[in-house]
Amino acid sequence: MPTPSSRPDRYALVGHPVEHSRSPLIHQLFAQQLGENLTYELIDAAPSQFETAVLGFAAAGGRGLNVTVPHKEAAFELCRIHGPEAVAARAVNTITFTTGGLRGDNTDGLGFIRDLTVNNERAIASRRVLLLGAGGAARGIAGPMLAEEPDALVIANRTIERAEALRRDLGAPGNVSVCRFDELEDAGEFDIVVNATSAGLKGERPPFPGSLVRKKTFCYDLAYSLKATPFVTWAEANGAGWAVQGWGMLVEQAAEAYAIWRGKRPETREILGKLLALSDRGAVAG
Ligand code: NAP
Repeated sequence: MPTPSSRPDRYALVGHPVEHSRSPLIHQLFAQQLGENLTYELIDAAPSQFETAVLGFAAAGGRGLNVTVPHKEAAFELCRIHGPEAVAARAVNTITFTTGGLRGDNTDGLGFIRDLTVNNERAIASRRVLLLGAGGAARGIAGPMLAEEPDALVIANRTIERAEALRRDLGAPGNVSVCRFDELEDAGEFDIVVNATSAGLKGERPPFPGSLVRKKTFCYDLAYSLKATPFVTWAEANGAGWAVQGWGMLVEQAAEAYAIWRGKRPETREILGKLLALSDRGAVAG
């Protein structure tokens, strides 16, 4: 077993709010598994303080940052060097302080695809897929989903212009279409429905027609909670065969970030098991 070095390397998550984040626990479990010595802090920074917070952490000797709501697009602008996934998404969730300047990567897409296709054993190829939302997280996962070659990818969003902009940024391929939520009544059946909106999180009913969901539909909520999320409750009430929360994506995107920073990818299954044990839900088969 490797011996941890005496001076821990410093990492942090910057967002607003961040106090409920599980990222410090996940990165500590990764470090423990690999016998490494690091600290992982939480930095709450409003948009006006974002740049100062990032540069201040670098000046204080920090090695890297994860970035969450609402700073992913600002992080893209701030970074000087970008990984290919960040360029495609125009959003950054992982910053590394390098001698050449700030490098921005986006690990959300890889994390989502790995959780869906490996942990949940769901193929996207040749399936009809619905993506609800067109914000930062939807941007991160849309390109990687498309690369898996779905038969159709429908992007639905409250603000249709954002869905149209996302389709354009994907290269406007023929198998991608956009619509509003109320147009989904006539959109046909889907094999996979992915919720990348924040709809329902303030207690309101998720604004999607229940007819979207069938027994064969696999519903995936990017949001995660120790209780059922509003989308999972909605999906189960409408008869979905499966409704899972985004815990697996959270762990997988963190593992990708860890690998970028430290050159070693932790084994995720064991860590995900520990997190799901904290929750009374986990993967829910209906
Ligand atoms: P964001 O950039 O703020 O985008 C929010 C999205 O939700 C937009 O599409 C927005 O539509 C829509 N929305 C917000 N309130 C709504 C409402 N009341 N009714 C209908 N649509 C509404 O946020 P984000 O970064 O994409 O995050 C979205 C969700 O994904 C959050 O719950 C976040 O925690 C989760 N997430 C999870 C992971 C993970 O690892 N599991 C990673 C990233 C994100 P408009 O365009 O019309 O405003």
